[in-house]
Amino acid sequence: MESNKNYQVLLYYNYVHIDDPEEYSGEHLQFCKDLELKGRILVAREGINGTVSGTVEQTTKYMEAMHNDPRFADMVFKIDDHDGHAFKKMHVRPRKELVTLRLEDDINPLQTTGQHLSPKEFFEAMQDDDTVVIDARNDYEYDLGHFRGAIRPDIETFRDLPDWIRENKDQINGKQVLTYCTGGIRCEKFSGWLLEEGFENVGQLHGGIVSYGKDPEVQGELWDGQCYVFDERISVPINRKEHVVVGVDYFDGQPCERYINCANPDCNEQILCSEENEHKYMRGCTHGCRVSPRNMYVKEHDLSQAEIEERLELLGESMKQEA
Ligand SMILES: [Zn+2]
Repeated sequence: MESNKNYQVLLYYNYVHIDDPEEYSGEHLQFCKDLELKGRILVAREGINGTVSGTVEQTTKYMEAMHNDPRFADMVFKIDDHDGHAFKKMHVRPRKELVTLRLEDDINPLQTTGQHLSPKEFFEAMQDDDTVVIDARNDYEYDLGHFRGAIRPDIETFRDLPDWIRENKDQINGKQVLTYCTGGIRCEKFSGWLLEEGFENVGQLHGGIVSYGKDPEVQGELWDGQCYVFDERISVPINRKEHVVVGVDYFDGQPCERYINCANPDCNEQILCSEENEHKYMRGCTHGCRVSPRNMYVKEHDLSQAEIEERLELLGESMKQEA
């Protein structure tokens, strides 16, 4: 049966000089709104990075228009079919840089970047004993899915990666270093930094995880779990040969690939959580979040005080308990 997938989600970037990001953002926002696209685009003097959704017709027009601009003539679009918009609004924002690593001197990937490896090349290099694979993303992205055997740097956000590498050099020294990220943009800079840091053999997955999953030959092999994406889909499948679940439920450690946000808006922590546990714990990641007067789950389900007490009791907690 044919599903109704007449929408597409585009993911793209290009490192290229943009004179006036502020001005370009304004024009580009209007252009996207005229096309009725939705999504999020960042513009900096170093380039553009975006993800947008729209009908096949709208997204096709967008790609054509971008390719007609000499600055973006060779920009690669990763295209996913979808059954509707994957965003609620359209944002185009000027930024100081597209990708932020906490560095004294920023890297220009047009000058220094690691060797681009095709999915096939990456797949083969990954299986070499003298290779280390480093996940160049945030921890919550890794936790939902990653390449089998890849190192999960013990950091909360990508921008802390250089510090982590410096502290863990002995794990990496003398080996070929492979890096990967969702669409490839973060690795363009991170792999360049690795070269400047003195690592000699540095490769990056060209087109990122998303392209790896679409490659007809490797078909996502050696990817475990799902790939985290920054739109309403939250996750997309990559490995078309087998599906190994690596995510675990925040509350009970059972296999889980369902991300939710803590119902306390002051916390908003993203956790993997089954539907069952969402109800059981009133979508609160801690006792304090469960009993927060701002708990959105309580509001959405219109729980009475007695009902809240009842749920807490099942967890061995009480209202009087310290938050
Ligand atoms: Zn919380």
